[in-house]
Amino acid sequence: MPRFPLIDAHEDLAWNMLTFGRDYTLDAYEIRERERRANAIAPQVNGETLLGWPQYQQAGVVLAFATLFVAPSRKRSGAWEKLVYDTPEEAAHWNREQLAAYRRLVEDHPTMFTLITHRQAFEDLWQRSTQNLEQEHPVGLVLLMENAEGILTPEEDVPWWYEQGLRILGPAWAGTRFCGGTGEPGPLTDEGRRLLRAMAEVGLALDVSHMDEAAVLEALDTYPGVVLASHANPQKAVGIASNRFLSDRVLQGLFERDAVIGVVPYNRFLQAGWKPADGKQAVPLRRVAEVIDYICQKAGSARHVGIGSDFDGGFGREHTPAEIDTIADLPQLADILAQWGYIEADIRAIFAENWRRVLLQVLP
Ligand SMILES: [Zn+2]
Repeated sequence: MPRFPLIDAHEDLAWNMLTFGRDYTLDAYEIRERERRANAIAPQVNGETLLGWPQYQQAGVVLAFATLFVAPSRKRSGAWEKLVYDTPEEAAHWNREQLAAYRRLVEDHPTMFTLITHRQAFEDLWQRSTQNLEQEHPVGLVLLMENAEGILTPEEDVPWWYEQGLRILGPAWAGTRFCGGTGEPGPLTDEGRRLLRAMAEVGLALDVSHMDEAAVLEALDTYPGVVLASHANPQKAVGIASNRFLSDRVLQGLFERDAVIGVVPYNRFLQAGWKPADGKQAVPLRRVAEVIDYICQKAGSARHVGIGSDFDGGFGREHTPAEIDTIADLPQLADILAQWGYIEADIRAIFAENWRRVLLQVLP
């Protein structure tokens, strides 16, 4: 049973729902069994699911940042990948489809999932869930747009998305019209600066995950609103020289902005050179705790780190540390941190309280 509430800052739920028909109201093992029986493509191209409703309860998940994610067709992984675009209009179409998928999910299953757009609703959910973590509670979802290419005109579209409930936006994935991104370096463009102004106007949080360092450094200096990194590991902690990871300079800037960084328990992001053929056993869960500890040591406190699992976002059970079979196994991280001398208040901060602080700043 979970001892600590958990807030997970990154899950590509709608992408999985629309791409593979995954139904997260089910048990993760039921989803796996159904995909096996149907000889579905999801386990081969994405990996076995790590998520399911009972597993959310076992993990103590109170809330997840639920993404609206689209990929440019130049990065398409195969013909199975549907949510891709050639034009901003196509990206916008898939963003709206994903919003509709979340609305159907919470309307059809109000006791299981609930969209959180306001502070009061979040506080109510938090109180209700944390009073007795062992009692079933709905999982809160806060909408996060990952890759802003579907924003056609920032001054018009950003307020519209805010009205729909969007609360966090990451301008990049690969490079976009707005800035350089993973594997496609580059600074903020003039359109990117316009996007940030429109975001600040409505009060969206800025997710710097996937943004190239040059773009992040400028945004850290100029963005007046809340800044965070929903799912990004530090370069030095993982020993991988890629702009997908946070340089120490960016880390320092994030600390100065009182930001929180979501650590990703994905083997490729934990151990340089890891490949699926090495097997999940090659990476122990301790590696995730080491990445968390790196951020805490750099910051001099446990105030700036959380979990951003990115679960089911292009990887699955086979690609996570040995001890992880589903999200229900993430609480084992608490035991490792406790063995290393982390006090309970710090473990609580890492599991949820840091993200809770951010949400209380972001939500109107
Ligand atoms: Zn991502």
